[in-house]
Amino acid sequence: KNYTKEDIMNLVEEEDVEFIRLQFTDMFGCLKNMAITSSQLLKALDNKCMFDGSAIEGFVKIEESDLFLYPDLSTLEIFPWRPQQGKVARLICDVYRPGGEPFEGDSRYILRRALKEAEEMGYTFKVGPECEFFLFHMDENAMPTTISHEQAGYFDLGPVDLGENARRDMVLTLEDMGFVVESSHHEAAPAQHEIDFEYDEALATADNIMTFKLTVKTIAKRHGLHATFMPKPKAGVNGSGMHINMSLSRDGRNIFQDPEGKDGLSREAYYFIGGIMKHIKAITAITNPLVNSYKRLVPGYEAPVYIAWSTTNRSPLIRIPASRGDETRIELRSPDPAANPYLALAVCLRAGLEGIREKIEPPESVNCNIFFMSDEEKSLAGIERLPGTLFEAIEELEKDEFIRNSLGNHVANKYIEAKKEEWNKYCAQITDWEIDEYLYRY
Ligand code: GLN
Ligand code: MG
Ligand code: MG
Ligand code: MG
Repeated sequence: KNYTKEDIMNLVEEEDVEFIRLQFTDMFGCLKNMAITSSQLLKALDNKCMFDGSAIEGFVKIEESDLFLYPDLSTLEIFPWRPQQGKVARLICDVYRPGGEPFEGDSRYILRRALKEAEEMGYTFKVGPECEFFLFHMDENAMPTTISHEQAGYFDLGPVDLGENARRDMVLTLEDMGFVVESSHHEAAPAQHEIDFEYDEALATADNIMTFKLTVKTIAKRHGLHATFMPKPKAGVNGSGMHINMSLSRDGRNIFQDPEGKDGLSREAYYFIGGIMKHIKAITAITNPLVNSYKRLVPGYEAPVYIAWSTTNRSPLIRIPASRGDETRIELRSPDPAANPYLALAVCLRAGLEGIREKIEPPESVNCNIFFMSDEEKSLAGIERLPGTLFEAIEELEKDEFIRNSLGNHVANKYIEAKKEEWNKYCAQITDWEIDEYLYRY
């Protein structure tokens, strides 16, 4: 929506909005906000709202801590779950330095920069995500558990249980907020759900993913449930992925399609795949950001483990869904919903564009189930593994200058440093598994 400042002032007045949340996303994908009352709105719209950047992990040092929020007027949304009087609205913001330069640690800016490169090449980058999540019960202290009494599985239509009811409410609320929800279904694991909303230009999609997560969590809470986007909350059942469907268009036409091309795909589509595959190990550090992310990327749970692509099979990293024409797209199946969507889309786009610029040919597609191939067959076919742990992924990111540059020095350095610390903390833990396995036997 193309709101002017006046439109926003009027809307806030007419709709009786009392609070406005000025939102942004930190490097680690967490939504942050500063709330203002409508009396401060004009100041905010004039980009004069300042905050202490040193309080946000990965942002700035104490000595240079003032940062400014520049609201993106097109993102005004009134939260439908708030009361009818004294409503709450939000504006998604870009983060700027006091001197008026964009702040290089702002992930929305990192994505904007990548989109500029696409634009210079004549492309619009469109993305549709598939977010999966679990709905668990809360304990008597209102703390989340990993317990659910639900038994349903993939696509099941059960007697309406708590989870189904909550999901229905989530879909309706998302629609109230302007989302076009294409479908929603029960996923493979008990208590696991997926809601798919329509693709859009990448920046809008990244904003939408953040809004989606907030909405899902908020509505779950109203149903007495805890929604989690943790990638693998339970051993022994599927984890939650966030497949991302990507396409490039030029002058409104999807350029990944080519009826004459092999499998109906254009050269650009192949090169885009080539670029992503070339950099996927480093990209994984961004798309799979947690220690826990790597517990999902194991055989047996519909999550990718090997670096391969296919037009038919769902076991590989990259799949080309069957639709062609305007719907032609590349589906990357490794990302999980804990990823910072701005950074994830930025690195995927950069790698794909490099593929196009450098004409990087992808390897042969693999149209059988890779999990049934022996190690020897895989190595003959040149199929490598995704990083197996957060530590390996971070090492790959350190090695990949191209992806580090796509993030910029500020984000790359802070991210690597923080993730190494996260890994070290994890390694120092004694887990239940170790106690169960070793305490008695040794
Ligand atoms: N949950 C699976 C994953 O981890 C995906 C399942 C599916 O959508 N087919 O990616
Ligand atoms: Mg899906
Ligand atoms: Mg799914
Ligand atoms: Mg999918």
